[in-house]
Amino acid sequence: MKLQTKLFIGGEFVDAADGATFPTYNPFDGSVIAQVAEAKAADVDKAVAAAKKAFPAWRDMPAMARGRLLLKLADAIEANAEELAQLESLDTGHPLRDSRGLDVPRTAVTFRYFGGMADKHQGSVVPVEAGFLNYVLREPLGVVGQVVPWNFPLMFTSWKMGPALAAGNTIVLKPAEITPLSSLRIAELMAEVGIPAGVVNILPGHGSIAGQHLAEHPDVAKIAFTGSTAVGRKIVQASASNLKRVQLELGGKGANIVFSDANLKAAINGSAFAIFHNQGQACIAGSRLMLHKNIADEFLEGFVKLAKSIKLGNPLDPKTEMGPLTSKLHQQRVLNYCQIAQQEGGKILTGGKAPDAPELAKGFFVEPTIVMAQPQDRICQEEVFGPFVSVNTFESDEEAIAIANSTEYGLGGGLWTTNLQRAHRVAGSMKAGMVWINCYKRVNPGSPFGGVGSSGYGREMGFEAMHDYTDAKSVWVNVDAQIPPHYPR
Ligand code: NAP
Ligand code: MG
Repeated sequence: MKLQTKLFIGGEFVDAADGATFPTYNPFDGSVIAQVAEAKAADVDKAVAAAKKAFPAWRDMPAMARGRLLLKLADAIEANAEELAQLESLDTGHPLRDSRGLDVPRTAVTFRYFGGMADKHQGSVVPVEAGFLNYVLREPLGVVGQVVPWNFPLMFTSWKMGPALAAGNTIVLKPAEITPLSSLRIAELMAEVGIPAGVVNILPGHGSIAGQHLAEHPDVAKIAFTGSTAVGRKIVQASASNLKRVQLELGGKGANIVFSDANLKAAINGSAFAIFHNQGQACIAGSRLMLHKNIADEFLEGFVKLAKSIKLGNPLDPKTEMGPLTSKLHQQRVLNYCQIAQQEGGKILTGGKAPDAPELAKGFFVEPTIVMAQPQDRICQEEVFGPFVSVNTFESDEEAIAIANSTEYGLGGGLWTTNLQRAHRVAGSMKAGMVWINCYKRVNPGSPFGGVGSSGYGREMGFEAMHDYTDAKSVWVNVDAQIPPHYPR
């Protein structure tokens, strides 16, 4: 596998202006995969200038032609699917079966969706007074900055770039410093399918340096950010310089409520997927399991048994069901929450530590962890972002809703019940941008994705995303109106 490790600016892979590099690691054994060029302020300036130069031609290209390039990119991703899956698993630790089955297909599908969308996001005509025509154009913003985290680095290239490109913007994207490789490979495929130079620029580098400079940059019209709530606040402050638009997909603390009338078998399996898929490194993870007290024991018996059976291993082994966390620092953070759980009086039902198996000793693993806790405990309020789920019980629907809505976050949440009225009533009462009923963590490029409260604002996916990557321009035409003079003379 040939790796791209340089900055992608103006259609070329180049070294950083000062020649700086940083290592990216394999989370399974801690080895260095490659040294990657590190963008700093001068490189950000260069990339923004390249994107600015490319903007007019990209904006003015027929929307169908722009869309066609994204459709070609989707095809190229599928043609290189196995290589991309291996690359993503190598850099992030995602089990290959997930990279193959979810990350890569979702990336292709999302670019294809927005390729199809390019010529379908249209303006409107407003029914105004007789004699006038008023029409509204949707115009791209210009150069947009995009900053993404390390948990789904490949998939987020499509979520972020798909709508921005379809709408006619040009892009400077900064991947997370610990997972830069798959976005650089996507850049290479973009060049191969004919996306013009400068339309997309990719800058691996540190958030506090390259990311911050991008968020402050006066020539950047919008910054789209996925990451932690703490950094989201910094992005908002940085955006004030030129009042750039901001879209924030931040943390979450997903409530996953199992009612006493739920199909328990489905709920157990779905709740395990909700928290353990991707090692729990998902903003929408169902990280707070809430069980009706009548079914709690039966549910937990099955749930703990399933968690214990999840096969940890080398991400590149197709049989592996859970890989390592993506960085050593993050592994320490999650293990620290296991200690906090115990200090707060939580009861660890399984996990709570790195696995003992010697063949996993070098990897950044944490065992699937289930902890009984109280809703106000830190582990039920703060985002752990690992294979770590807190459990508490409730007795009434009202109590369940109150607990579900008791964190600062409001991203995704789920509920399991066979009662139709309860399902819709509780879904309507949840403080969340997304709710899943008798399923969890479903996403589709057509369905709005985003949160409320400390989970951010703005939406990705669908027409909502296209809307957020354009501005409305209202044009008034006097067709045959006789306008009485305002200043009769
Ligand atoms: P993070 O620390 O906020 O980093 C996210 C990105 O921001 C990285 O590329 C990071 O660069 C960059 N960054 C850091 N400081 C910056 C600054 N001052 N200015 C501009 N950019 C800066 O988050 P993370 O720990 O990587 O990711 C996990 C978080 O993302 C969790 O809270 C999770 O919930 C959230 N998330 C949200 C969603 C959603 O859709 N709502 C989806 C996935 C993840 P470096 O890598 O160099 O630090
Ligand atoms: Mg890595």
